[in-house]
Amino acid sequence: MNNRFLDKIQTPIPKDPITTLQINLGRKCNQACHHCHVEASPRRTEEISEDVKEDLINVIKGFKQIKTVDITGGAPEMHHGFREIVMASRSEGKEVIVRSNLTVFFEEGYEDLPDFFAEWGVKIVASLPCYLEENVDALRGRGVYQKSIEAIKLLNSRGYGKDRILDFVYSPLIPKGERFSLAPDQQQLELDYKKYLKEHFGIEFNSLYAFTNLPIGRFAGHLKSHSLDGAYLDFLESHYNPVTLDHLMCRNQLSIDYEGNVYDCDFNQMAHVPSSANGNGHKINIKTLLDNNSLDLIQAVEVRDYCFGCTAGSGSSCSGALA
Ligand code: SF4
Ligand code: SF4
Repeated sequence: MNNRFLDKIQTPIPKDPITTLQINLGRKCNQACHHCHVEASPRRTEEISEDVKEDLINVIKGFKQIKTVDITGGAPEMHHGFREIVMASRSEGKEVIVRSNLTVFFEEGYEDLPDFFAEWGVKIVASLPCYLEENVDALRGRGVYQKSIEAIKLLNSRGYGKDRILDFVYSPLIPKGERFSLAPDQQQLELDYKKYLKEHFGIEFNSLYAFTNLPIGRFAGHLKSHSLDGAYLDFLESHYNPVTLDHLMCRNQLSIDYEGNVYDCDFNQMAHVPSSANGNGHKINIKTLLDNNSLDLIQAVEVRDYCFGCTAGSGSSCSGALA
């Protein structure tokens, strides 16, 4: 198999001891954003089963080395087992990150989420791909910006953005032609966000994470349909920065899908590139971890050409820039 990224780095990326369990609960979402690498939407029905939920809770309880449980989707809040996993993780003293789209707070049955998050001390990483309304609505759907602002006000009133952590995620606009962009300077952009949002809405948040769009899922489909896929990959490769390699999130995390399969990251999960134990090519799942009583069964990260997205410029990860 031709693997441009592996040719570039030459040596496989070793797996470090696992400290983060990222869980993707399923594909349901109240939105259907153009940049979604999960291709989530209100029409998707895939979600975690009771069995997988039980296994996940056993892993969370059984492995002290897990410091962080990072919960995503879809809209993770809309999936079976979400609250139980949050409560089990917090009861074990783990940091819990929920990747929320914010607008879910206004869906029927989810209105109490801000209170639930505050009660359980959950850290929220919320999508707000720009501080300007027209850009957010272009990427995520009409009316999403105003709903997001209202949701942030609800969180601020519960201490988020101050002593409770509320971080935002920026992602670049979807390119129409070959004028591609990486995530801009994260620190300067955070200042711009804070100034604008405070002045216009009186709202606050803690940190901004700037992501680069990886050519996976709906965004990859967009690139292909505009015959931009090859040029975008060339663009990412031309900005390759080896300094980012030591800090990649895939080194110390496992990403689990709604069926319990194990991957190195959420991108590999969406691209159907599973992890294998000890490089033997056999897929592993959550039961393999429990049966072996080990989270550290993987020797090297599975890399593909879209990994140029994580390693371009200042790098990109679930916690923003890397270098
Ligand atoms: S990007 Fe987030 S909010 Fe948008 S469709 Fe995907 S999962 Fe839902
Ligand atoms: S997509 Fe990024 S996080 Fe995933 S394996 Fe590649 S470099 Fe690592």
